[in-house]
This record gives sequence, C-alpha cells and structure tokens, in this order.
Amino acid sequence: MNTLFDPSLLFIADNDWLDEEKQDDFLAHLLNHLACIDEYDICKIWWTDELQTILVSNPNMHPWYGKDLSNPLVATIYKLFYTRLELIEALDTICQITPPLSITYTNENTHTHFLQLVHSLINQEVACYFCVGISNQLKPLKRYTFSCDCHTNTLIPTLLNNAKEWLTYVDVVEQFFPASLTDFEEKFAKGMEVIKQRAFEDKPYLYSFTFTNNFKRSIVNRRTFKEEIFTAMVRKLVATAAEASRNPLQDECIDAKQKEYRFRVTQRPHSTRIHYKLNDDNTIEFLRYYGEGEHDDGLR
Ligand SMILES: [Zn+2]
Repeated sequence: MNTLFDPSLLFIADNDWLDEEKQDDFLAHLLNHLACIDEYDICKIWWTDELQTILVSNPNMHPWYGKDLSNPLVATIYKLFYTRLELIEALDTICQITPPLSITYTNENTHTHFLQLVHSLINQEVACYFCVGISNQLKPLKRYTFSCDCHTNTLIPTLLNNAKEWLTYVDVVEQFFPASLTDFEEKFAKGMEVIKQRAFEDKPYLYSFTFTNNFKRSIVNRRTFKEEIFTAMVRKLVATAAEASRNPLQDECIDAKQKEYRFRVTQRPHSTRIHYKLNDDNTIEFLRYYGEGEHDDGLR
C-alpha cells in the first residue's frame, strides 16, 4: 500500500520559507516522514507527471529544490523523495475532499493536480496512506474522505499526522526478527527500538545489554511469540527492578552466585521465559530463551 503526500507537505509559500521557524518546522516534518518511510522501507509515494512538472518547472514553489541543495537537509529530502516515487496516470477530472485541505502554498494548480491524482486512485479502488502537512493535521480518529459524483466508492486513506505514526504500520516481526545469526545484533536491536517507541513511550533503557551466542541460537528459527519476545525484553530494559518483579515479567533471581535471573515472556499455560545475567557494571547479558515446553532448571 503506497502513500499520498498532501501538497502542503512538499510545497511552502515564500513568506513561510523566509520565516526561520516555519522553514525549520516544514523541513523537519517532511524529512521525518521521508526518513521513516526509508528506514522501514514502508512504501512508495503516489505521484503524477503533472505534479512532477510543477516541481521541476517552478522552483519558487518549493524552495527545497535547486539552489538549496547545498543545505544537507534539503539534499537528503531530495534524495529520499525521488527514490520513492511511483507514477500513476491522473484522471482529467478532480474529486472532492472532506474536510477541505488548507492550501499553504501559492500555486493552486498543485491542489487540482493532487485531486486528479486521488480521483485516479478512486477509479482504480486503490487503498493508501495519507501524510499531511502541519496545517492539515486532524484530531485523533478523524479522517479525510475523498469522493466524487462519478464513482460510488470513496477513498478514506489511513491518515498519518506525524512521521512517528508510521511505527504502527511497521511489521516488526517480519522485518526485524532474526532468522539467522548474521546481523543478529543490529536487527534485533532495531526491532526492540520500534517496540520501545510504539508501546513504551520511548522510555530510556536503564541497562545496556548484550546477547550471548546461546541466546541468539535459542531465538533464531522460532515460530511463535516473536513479538512477545521483543516486547518482554524492552519491558525489562525500561523497568526498575521493583517494576520488573511484578506482573507480567515476574523477574526473579534464580542463582545469586552466578547472578542469573529470569523473566516471563508469556504467561501460563504457554509459559516462556528469558534468562539473563546482571553484571556488576549493571549491564544485562541475555543468556537464553526458553520456549513452550522447554523447562528451565529454575522452574522445577
Ligand atoms: Zn469519480
């Protein structure tokens, strides 16, 4: 499923561009969307030749083009944007949008071409995401609806007010659960990072951590509880000792001499657990994952 970009995400009026604060907000908002889409390789951006023509022939419409390429931020946006385009043939007629989009840029043809692009998606009954500019962000649960007189179906895209909302749509297991020992650390840490931002308000980790080879071998090729493994590990790393000792982790010491502990990943009847070592320097060494039916010594 591809995404639409509200033109006000890409185009800015000269007066706003000359206002340093507005320019910073505009660039950060656009860059965050593009960086997130790139980082998690989420989708392409629907685009048309007509919109492209406005982009290349009217540099004043989008000051992040041309002379501003010397700005590294603009150069990054330029590269990320152009590698993500997917062209679609626009219809000659436009559709309507409710509630209306505010138009913060100067060339209103852009808005017309955008509605022709969306009309084409209605015609092809294509579902999509919709990233909006700062001035077009809606309250939670509110949506934009695209409709027309000539088609009976409407298009209600999945709205993204902010780049951070992309995390909801990342398939963390598919993308980051390691299937082999190669790149294990990097993949696994990235998967945990997504879960931390998505489900734990991006709380800081209270421990640094490493994975033993035993742990890695106990993780790869798992078929069940993959997201639960990520979630339990993040929950452990952001929790104080007192918080971790309670449900659902029930963190407990099983060998004081070896400093070995364990916490629960899933509850009975599917009890699964992770063992770890807490080193003197407060770092956690993940030792092994015990799946369903694999009895760890401490549980006996
Ligand atoms: Zn129509």
